[in-house]
Amino acid sequence: MKQKSITSTIYEHICRDTGKQNESAKLIAVVRLLTLILLVHSLVFCILVSFTGHIPSLVLSALSLVLFLTIFILSYQYSTFTSYCILNACTLIFSVLNVYYLGWRLGVQHYLAVLLVFVFFSKYKHETAKLLYSLFLFILRLILYFYCQYNDPVVTLDVELSGVMQVTNSFFIFLAFGVIAYLFSTTTQEMEGKLIEYNRKLMKQANTDTLTGLYNRRRTMEYLEKLLETPDTQISICLCDIDFFKRVNDTYGHDIGDEVLKKISETFQKRLPPDTFISRWGGEEFLLIFPRLNGDETIIALETLRQKIKEIVFDGGSETFSVTLTYGLVEYDYRSDITTLLKEADEKLYLGKESGRDRIIF
Ligand code: GH3
Ligand code: MG
Ligand code: MG
Repeated sequence: MKQKSITSTIYEHICRDTGKQNESAKLIAVVRLLTLILLVHSLVFCILVSFTGHIPSLVLSALSLVLFLTIFILSYQYSTFTSYCILNACTLIFSVLNVYYLGWRLGVQHYLAVLLVFVFFSKYKHETAKLLYSLFLFILRLILYFYCQYNDPVVTLDVELSGVMQVTNSFFIFLAFGVIAYLFSTTTQEMEGKLIEYNRKLMKQANTDTLTGLYNRRRTMEYLEKLLETPDTQISICLCDIDFFKRVNDTYGHDIGDEVLKKISETFQKRLPPDTFISRWGGEEFLLIFPRLNGDETIIALETLRQKIKEIVFDGGSETFSVTLTYGLVEYDYRSDITTLLKEADEKLYLGKESGRDRIIF
């Protein structure tokens, strides 16, 4: 068996469902990725803060490390919403404490903007709560800003360490923004793709017959109306019907009858000119429309088809059998309406049945 790569194993683990119903797989993946980013960020903080020798900051960084690790582990047990709320609360505390201890210049307060974006991208539909939360984040940021204007940070960092920490913070905050934007934008693209595909399928279902896959009557009328609106070429129309099909059903069963309908439909598609519009007009009746062919040219195509269908050997269980069709062909005269044309084709088909079947009447 093919070994899974480490990245795909990690990816599957991060995206693993919470096991609860109606949960968004994408949201829990973002929660876990953000938690991991904050976890690594806390670890880097621990290392950098240890250079300052300031024990409370070091303890706080170590605590946040443990905290984010716990959130990550718990995200496999709690519901997505719970993990999402805990992560929000812990990120808030993480940002506030960092600003309080290390000052405004390091930029950890930008995590408040990450939370703002995250909240709006989440699927939860509590619009008022989202707006109130945004307001809260904004006010909190203002408070932090004015606090820092009038108070020095608890820990004074030297210039080099301050620079390193600024770069580190920018990196993790950009990463957090990137993860949210990337994952939620792919959701939108995936959804759009699925919607287009779904619409395409719906359209196909509305236009085709399920048994044979041929166009149905509704679509055929649509096509004919459009075709006759601007008849710049010759058009021929043929209504054909399987001979004694009731007998096939009665002798071999309805399922075999269905197989015959499918095989004949395939033969139409294989043997007729590529631009022929082929439809199942009703039960065992088909309407074939030949744009760009006059009646004489169409007869040649139909004659080959008639022979090919006759040659098909069907398995009826205890014996084999074959079927024939009768064809009523009309050529568009640039005047008649659809109803008249179809009536004429139907009359020719009837004539064909009356005069012995298995023939083309033009
Ligand atoms: P004719 O040569 O005069 O056309 O005789 P016929 O037996 O073909 O015509 P009739 O109208 O008496 O019977 C048509 C039969 O087609 C009856 C109906 O059960 C069968 N049929 C219609 N739709 C389907 C289908 O989807 N599947 C199957 N198996 N049979 C169908
Ligand atoms: Mg029939
Ligand atoms: Mg019929």
